[in-house]
Amino acid sequence: MSNFRHLSIVGVRDEIKNMPEIHKGQSHQGINSVKIYLKRFGFLGEDIEGSDLDDTTSDALKRFQEYFNIPDTGNFDDATREVMSLSRCALPDLDPNSPAASTACAWRTPYLTFAFQTGTSDVSGSDEFEAVRRAFRTWESAGTPSFREVNTSDNPDILVRWRPAQCGDADMRGGTLAHADYPPDCPYYDADLPQPIHFDDDEHTWADGQVIGAFDVESIALHEIGHIIGLYHSSDSSAIMYPTVSSNTLARVPQSDDITGLRSLYKGRVHIHEMDNAGRVGARRDTRTWTSGWTTARTYNIGTKHFLFLLKEFTGEVHIHEMNSDGSVGAEVVRYHWSRGWTTANFYTVGSTTYLFLLKESNGHVHIHEMNSNGSVGAEVVRYDWTSGWTTVAFSLSGSRPYLFLLKRCYPRT
Ligand SMILES: [Zn+2]
Ligand SMILES: [Zn+2]
Repeated sequence: MSNFRHLSIVGVRDEIKNMPEIHKGQSHQGINSVKIYLKRFGFLGEDIEGSDLDDTTSDALKRFQEYFNIPDTGNFDDATREVMSLSRCALPDLDPNSPAASTACAWRTPYLTFAFQTGTSDVSGSDEFEAVRRAFRTWESAGTPSFREVNTSDNPDILVRWRPAQCGDADMRGGTLAHADYPPDCPYYDADLPQPIHFDDDEHTWADGQVIGAFDVESIALHEIGHIIGLYHSSDSSAIMYPTVSSNTLARVPQSDDITGLRSLYKGRVHIHEMDNAGRVGARRDTRTWTSGWTTARTYNIGTKHFLFLLKEFTGEVHIHEMNSDGSVGAEVVRYHWSRGWTTANFYTVGSTTYLFLLKESNGHVHIHEMNSNGSVGAEVVRYDWTSGWTTVAFSLSGSRPYLFLLKRCYPRT
């Protein structure tokens, strides 16, 4: 990335907010602030200064305008002023050396640790930490490495802190409200662990939720953790990784653009082994590299055919494959895109019919479907609305019919 990472934008946003429209070829003292903004966020790769809106600066303005989906006039106009006046993340939007990149790099480990140091007095108690924990869990369920909280003394990979605007590694003064860094193989600020997630505690007000004039901790944390896992900014305005943000808004769920970035960084893996005659794990029969984020795999039989059912809890994607007689994964039979949040899937047979049992832990919703002879999911048989918190479902065959075994991990004693 550019070498403008420590460029201070103090006073820049205030000057830009008060500037008139300036066209290419014209001069205005505020244009120097526009150049600083463009350099700091990756749109201007040359260290030019001064009050002239020259050709190079006009080209940089076009790149900025294209990125933010406003008319690419190459002039400093009202729409440009409006976007440059928004609060935003301190990391850049473009890499002048690699303008098409959307991801930085991945972590080499599937297990990451994080710790909290300083919080903010804007939020009561330690609710700001709970909001950040939720954001970590959201990414994890979408298929990132897993995140485990540790103490600051346990050499965490990620250290979360509310900091003065001049936080030491970055400079968040002048309209930037938070920053993080990329994985240690592709840092923007520093490769040394822990990688930072810093929230500006000087110039911005924080809230747990939607509050006028304040920024939702969970929403901003989700964006910054996106950088931590290796995502750059996105020019898709629906994406969590869009660089600018408004107060009094919630954005707590990664969108399809964010998930596309995630999938390009991390993969899932499958090994299939034969079990030997002594019940031990034997030779490997199949190795597959899949997209990350699959949370459930089940197998079932229809007649003599054997099928594999795969589910992603976070997105509701379902893939069904035929299994080959040598134990390897065969052709895809069908795929579905269901609602999010199915945590449990299991199969059972009554008579000659195979059924699919689906459960959402969060709300206790249960759907039961009949399975078709080609392995696909057939008509819904029944649905139930149970209590939340059931985590494990098993079917046992005692005598001629299956029994349903349900387990809830935790329930109030009184
Ligand atoms: Zn950012
Ligand atoms: Zn910092």
